[in-house]
Amino acid sequence: MESQVEEIKKKLDVVDVIGKYLPLKKRGRHFVACCPFHGEKTPSFTVSPELQIFKCFGCGKAGDIFTFVQEFDHLDFRDALEELAKMAGVTLIKDEHLSEIERHHKRLVDLNYEVAKFYNYILTSHPLGKLALDYILNRGTTLDTIKLFKIGYSPANSTLITSYLLKKNFTVDELIATGTFGHSQYNQRQLYDRFQDRLVFPLCDFRDRVLGFSGRILPTSKNPNLAKYINSPETDLYHKSQMLFGLNLAKESIKKAKSVIVVEGEFDMVSPYQNGVSNIVAIKGTAFTEDQLHLLKRYTDTLILGLDSDFAGNNSARKSIALADSLGFDISVLQLGEKYKDPDEAVRDDPDFFKKQVESVVPVWDFIIASALKTFDPTTIRGKKEILSMVLPFLVKITNSVVQSDYYHKLASEIGSDVDAVISEANKVNRPEASVVTTLHTSSEKINKVEQLEDYLLSLIFSSQKPHLLAPKIVDQIEFTLPRFKNIFTNLSVLTTDFNPKTFADSLSPELSPVFNNLYLAGTYLNLDSHHRLLEIKKTINQLLTISLKQRQVDISSQIARAESARDDTLINQLELEYNSILQQLSSLQSTKT
Ligand SMILES: [Zn+2]
Repeated sequence: MESQVEEIKKKLDVVDVIGKYLPLKKRGRHFVACCPFHGEKTPSFTVSPELQIFKCFGCGKAGDIFTFVQEFDHLDFRDALEELAKMAGVTLIKDEHLSEIERHHKRLVDLNYEVAKFYNYILTSHPLGKLALDYILNRGTTLDTIKLFKIGYSPANSTLITSYLLKKNFTVDELIATGTFGHSQYNQRQLYDRFQDRLVFPLCDFRDRVLGFSGRILPTSKNPNLAKYINSPETDLYHKSQMLFGLNLAKESIKKAKSVIVVEGEFDMVSPYQNGVSNIVAIKGTAFTEDQLHLLKRYTDTLILGLDSDFAGNNSARKSIALADSLGFDISVLQLGEKYKDPDEAVRDDPDFFKKQVESVVPVWDFIIASALKTFDPTTIRGKKEILSMVLPFLVKITNSVVQSDYYHKLASEIGSDVDAVISEANKVNRPEASVVTTLHTSSEKINKVEQLEDYLLSLIFSSQKPHLLAPKIVDQIEFTLPRFKNIFTNLSVLTTDFNPKTFADSLSPELSPVFNNLYLAGTYLNLDSHHRLLEIKKTINQLLTISLKQRQVDISSQIARAESARDDTLINQLELEYNSILQQLSSLQSTKT
């Protein structure tokens, strides 16, 4: 497998691979794009063809093509290997290299596929599925759609499917591990199907693998006390927080439309999709998770919420919106008016109306202000208070200050108040929890000032086409204090050949080459001309010298104090001379500052 990884790396270029996922723009020796891993409007995601790596200077994500595909598509190593092998035209030596866990997952995916096929067959072709089929056809879902979504029906008698699967050589343990089956309470030797007598939607990931199921009760059910919807429990494969129903079918349309409509339930996704609104996914609830947002971020940064219209009063929805905002999404709301309770109902009744509403969505903050104004009376004191307490928790979480300020003004004018008063109320509301992006920054290691400056100085040196010619000029001026920087700088100073980043990285010890990669990318990312580079280098050296001189100054002061109490005049004189010389050096550094 090791050699196959190398083979693939040799055949693929990092720019071609990442270029398939993101629009890359050439900048200097690199390519840049807006980072897919954190929200940003100006590109800090950098790809280096020379080093065959990528790095984001916003969030710190970095690595090679394998890391990229794993992170971007949320794949484990084996799956990323498969994707890249396909791209490289390399045939992988199959299954025997799969780990025990990977083999287990693959079995469960195959099993789920069989289950979906069985349910779909019962629904579309078996008398047992007749009632369910009548029901779904009656509500307007076509046979083509049923086939496309692999919708099925799980018959009331579980033994039909369990014996079918056992005959296909799946084990009882595997059946239970999918979460679809369990031991019967009454007869431990019997298995029951948790979706029995339900319409079943397979829950697929974006690669079209069936990871779990969702079952909807039929109106004809003999037991009306059952929950309307049930889902697979969390299993090795199925994680609710990462599921976006319909993404496997909608992803291309989302890319094309440059937006995604997010709805709550399966039918809210299926019905619009069938009617030509195909940039749509369902989150199965009113709140979306960070995982779901990251998944969507791969395809678009525009969210259109098609959720239950009173979601504005919902705490978890509010958190989701703040999270999406902090990740750089533009968020709007699809309004269906009073007439329809959800997208499914609206599309089935009046597809043209639905499409028109999709074209005329309103920004989420306007929607929230409007719904507060509809609920409370802005002319009374009590109403104003209610409106503020409904709207401000949303507005305080807007990450862009200009946008935020606009909405404070808007809110103030709507309730006939002064904007300063609104802002002062906003300050009383909980400050936004640290956004995802800022947590990423604070969690990165704390670098002290000297470390930061030395790091920057080396980056500046490496930003030159010929850093090995720059190094000897710097050797006399400053000494690097951090061992890793010192080591890299020494290696550069003694270089006798022309500088080549790849060869240089290979010549370093394994723990230093990633340090160098960072410095090199950071340097070239600066994109400076030689004049500005020299100015920056001079400034940084001055700052480093100033810090070390000031430290020396502190040391000498305490030595003088000790010498004074020991009444050692000779030492005092000597220290004072040195102290004065430091003062002079400091002031000459001051005067050279630009
Ligand atoms: Zn990033």
